Amino acid sequence: LTGQPRARAWNERSFRRLIVDMHIGDWNPAFLARYDAERIRDDCLAAGSDGVMLYVQTHTGLCYWPTASGRQHACCRGRDLVRDTLEAFHAREVPVCAYYSVNFNNWAWLEHPDWRLQPACKRNASILFAQRYGVVCLNHPAYRAFLREQVAEITRYDFDAYFFDMIWWGGVCVCEHCLERCRRETGQELPRTVDWLDPGWCRFQRARERWLSELAAELRDEVRRRRPGRQVYHNFALALADWTRAVSFDSAQYHDFLGGDFYGGRDEQLVVSRLMLNLSERRPVEFMTTISANLIEYERQRETAELEQMAGAAASCSSAYLLIAPVNPDGTLQRPALERARSAFEVLAPYQPWFGGEPVEDVAVYLSDDSKMNFADNGRPLEELPAGSTPTYPHGHAVLGACRVLQQAHLPFGVITRRQLEQLGRYRVVVLPNVLRMDAEEAAALREYVRAGGCLYASRMTSLTETAGRRHADFMLADVFGCHYAAPEAGAVVFLRPTTAELGEAVRPDELVTHRATATQTTGAVRIAADADSTVLATLTLPYGYPQVGSVEDQDWAAIHVMAAWERTDHPVVVEHRFGAGRVIYSAADLESGGSPGQDRLFLALLRRLITEAPSFEARAHPSVWMTVFDQRDARRQLVSLLSYQAELPPLPVPEVEFRLRPPDGYRYTRLLRLPDEQPVAATVDADGVLGTRITGLDGFAAYLAEYEEQAAQKSCTR
Ligand SMILES: [Zn+2]
Repeated sequence: LTGQPRARAWNERSFRRLIVDMHIGDWNPAFLARYDAERIRDDCLAAGSDGVMLYVQTHTGLCYWPTASGRQHACCRGRDLVRDTLEAFHAREVPVCAYYSVNFNNWAWLEHPDWRLQPACKRNASILFAQRYGVVCLNHPAYRAFLREQVAEITRYDFDAYFFDMIWWGGVCVCEHCLERCRRETGQELPRTVDWLDPGWCRFQRARERWLSELAAELRDEVRRRRPGRQVYHNFALALADWTRAVSFDSAQYHDFLGGDFYGGRDEQLVVSRLMLNLSERRPVEFMTTISANLIEYERQRETAELEQMAGAAASCSSAYLLIAPVNPDGTLQRPALERARSAFEVLAPYQPWFGGEPVEDVAVYLSDDSKMNFADNGRPLEELPAGSTPTYPHGHAVLGACRVLQQAHLPFGVITRRQLEQLGRYRVVVLPNVLRMDAEEAAALREYVRAGGCLYASRMTSLTETAGRRHADFMLADVFGCHYAAPEAGAVVFLRPTTAELGEAVRPDELVTHRATATQTTGAVRIAADADSTVLATLTLPYGYPQVGSVEDQDWAAIHVMAAWERTDHPVVVEHRFGAGRVIYSAADLESGGSPGQDRLFLALLRRLITEAPSFEARAHPSVWMTVFDQRDARRQLVSLLSYQAELPPLPVPEVEFRLRPPDGYRYTRLLRLPDEQPVAATVDADGVLGTRITGLDGFAAYLAEYEEQAAQKSCTR
């Protein structure tokens, strides 16, 4: 049996993972006094996990093995907790991943004051008690040498995988090593003011991203050199964080697969799960979160129903689900947490055997790594900008909004990045949600995509500014959009008036769609001029007194509380344009980031205008239902999942879901099976080969297999 459990990679061997979360100090002898490797193992297995992550070291910097390079946790008292626990799990053939905390290292921070991160901004936007954490600078050569020694030590243990946490910046570091590296690599002093229209600033930010990517690559290579065939990944939790963290999508190539811990709720899980599916070098990916309500309130745990819904969402993406299980300071696992984990794992477990395949995605929402920023920050000194972990930048708002609307409409969509630039032809529609920075390569790929017959939706500032910092006078894609940039809209509110009966119907009973411009520019609009060969789909109506807000001393308002619609204009806001064999709808307002029902309806109606052929699947169901389909061509089937993911708990069963499904070209459906019992479900197949069925009483997560066969094979059979 030697070697047999390793026949498959770690990420394929388990889907229900627990982290034994043990960021515990060593200054009280009662800490970890009750830690028992076999009991920890038995507790994890009893909770239904089929893989675990163990801390070899933590944010404390203290090591759970007898280290030569660092300091061993005093509560080990001569024990090697790493060896004991790893052996306990391996004795039951449970795959184990090692956890190591990079740069959050209190021991190193205290021992080597010169290694400390020196953030330009002393304020911290973290939800954590920032004063508890010693963060060191990744650019300090002595720290890097120390890291290599630590990796050499932990790879003496034969883990199935290695996970490195916290490879992101705790702010812009201005230590001497960062200053020197900036000078050497960008040929300039470290800029002290944010300016996305300054090529020097943009070069510096690119360097910060590169420094992290290089470290991710270095750690992966160090592990691979010593443990060939073992997987390495880094926490991708801050993938959607703004530029301050500098976690680039480019760095994803240095992860064997993607996984990370997320706390942003349902909408974030929707986006990040789909992002990871298309950005990861390998699948399955991993969705990780705490059993506790958050990272701080350790005794307050999430509702079991919430953990179950998150498990269903992971299952809907054929992803692993990793729960962070809190260890009490005495070294025992928390009972209530284990019970909750058990319930959550039971949602996913029955369906694991059918996970996998290619996600069916007609619409691609383009997530731009370079647009995780905000032009509103231009001119702000670094001292004023705490590192942020949430997607509060304009493009992030727009991406989250676009995905939410597509999910609520049950349309097949995915999240793509520039990694898919050469495969854009796979998608019927590409959505560019206020893409603030774009380079010539992206613009060229998008232009060719449309020329070849693709459809595009783009909004607001998309393609106006180059990634390198150059603001153009017009959109780089103006020829494709069929319109030209004139100026930003100056007022706080504008109104869109649909010009076609179909779009008017979509927003009924409203006649206007209100669109606000926030002071932080998270939503807004621009003024455009349309080409003669473009069709105007919505025109601009302005409030009284525009662009003034009005005050007590003037008369730039009509009714005291409101922005009343007043001046109906012919200015185009939404235009449609044919380009090559494709079609484009450009909206000067980032409708998808607005969040009101009217904005959602108009955005969706515009997308439906672009989706001319019947979508690969569609459903008539409550908006809380996620419908996801994976194509498993080798097995001649599609894996269909339905998840009722509701905001209020416990979720009510959804009375009825009707869905329609199209087979891949050249295939016809043979039957629809309910999982996990593989019982046939009544379904119709129409003349176009579309399968239709109606499900009643959707309670949580459900999955089906739609089996198909080659059309030619079927014909020869009947003849
Ligand atoms: Zn530094």
